[in-house]
Amino acid sequence: MPMSDNFKKRLFPVLQDIVAHFGTPFHLYDEAGIVETGHALKEAFSASPGFMEYYAVKALPNPTIMTIMKNLEFGFDCSSVAELCLCRSLGATGEDIIFTSNNTTTEDFSAAFSDGGCIINLDDVSLIPKLPRVPELICFRYNPGSRRTGNAIIGNPVEAKYGVSHNQIIDAYRRMKQMGTTRFGLHTMLASNERNHTYMVETAHMLLDLAQWISAELDIRFEFINIGGGLGIPYRPEDLPLDLAAMAKEINDLFTMFKEKNSYTPKLCMESGRYITGPHGVLVTQAINYKDIYRKYIGVDACMSALMRPGIYGAYHHIDVLGKDPEKSPLEKIDVVGSLCENNDKFAVDRILPKIDMGDILVIQDTGAHGHAMGFNYNGKLRPQELLLNKNGSVERIRRAETLEDYFATLTFQKDTLII
Ligand SMILES: *Cc1c(COP(=O)(O)O)cnc(C)c1O
Repeated sequence: MPMSDNFKKRLFPVLQDIVAHFGTPFHLYDEAGIVETGHALKEAFSASPGFMEYYAVKALPNPTIMTIMKNLEFGFDCSSVAELCLCRSLGATGEDIIFTSNNTTTEDFSAAFSDGGCIINLDDVSLIPKLPRVPELICFRYNPGSRRTGNAIIGNPVEAKYGVSHNQIIDAYRRMKQMGTTRFGLHTMLASNERNHTYMVETAHMLLDLAQWISAELDIRFEFINIGGGLGIPYRPEDLPLDLAAMAKEINDLFTMFKEKNSYTPKLCMESGRYITGPHGVLVTQAINYKDIYRKYIGVDACMSALMRPGIYGAYHHIDVLGKDPEKSPLEKIDVVGSLCENNDKFAVDRILPKIDMGDILVIQDTGAHGHAMGFNYNGKLRPQELLLNKNGSVERIRRAETLEDYFATLTFQKDTLII
């Protein structure tokens, strides 16, 4: 199921009014839905002492949304200086933040170590000398290569640029221990939009086995195991949701077994983005052109500057036409397109939708993660505003639309010429 019935019930009756007031296009996020999913995640892992979710800021880096995360007592997973700045502007400090960077610069690290610091999640052993000082707590991101765990194949991380390889991982912790680090965490991130909970359980299993091995080799304890993000959501109507309860129970059983063998237990951490906000956002856009050539096209007033996923990954985003029930309306097979001069600027291809009239409102669903945030300015296309449907039913603007002044801002610069 894409967009939930409750979200529809909250939004659809008032959507024409919202459109009339704010104008299209916009992304709109549903506070009630986000909070509900946040609570569901916490509830599912309530048996895991110290369970911690670090919201992956890159999924929806809007301070108003991040404040909702903070009120849920979630931390933040950052991978850039900009994301660190955003978190700190909201009062997050120290171990509220985990900094998971790669190809990191010394400047990135000095930002991470300043303003109360944060948890450093190192991507490679070569980055150790770049740390401005020895942190008390260190975490490494692990890349298992083509290793199998149990009976599941954990993707093909051999081709992934991330993480410390299997044969370097012991040495990585040994070096930090020798340098004086006393607290340790272990991280990996292997999944993306994965709705099979077994995959996440296998990841936890792999990290616990690894933690046990490293602990024994180096006589250290792990404070936490971070299984990363990547929990999937149903984008297509026929997709089944992730079984969160089963995932939590099976992971919890693994931690109990770990405790029996090792007489302590690390905390479980996670850094989901998509799972928390993805289903609770929509891109609302208006039909402005109809074109009938070899295929039929509905041109809308948003384009891939607002949502790149269909264009880059061929991703499916479910679309409703406001006020037109597909069961009761005449249907038409169309492509829903933006105005960018790229033929992949399409929100839907060969989609059967109720016949659309000019001015109809299209609700493109599941845009609450990796939606607005991924937008780009190619072709001078501007990113739209973001709105929040508050729990009390009011709607507020939480980011304005980009303007041409924003777009041209970098053309105001200091002249500089090198004469050779
Ligand atoms: C992108 C990312 C996440 C979040 O991924 P989702 O698919 O949104 O859950 C978490 N951790 C790291 C390191 C990431 O790069």
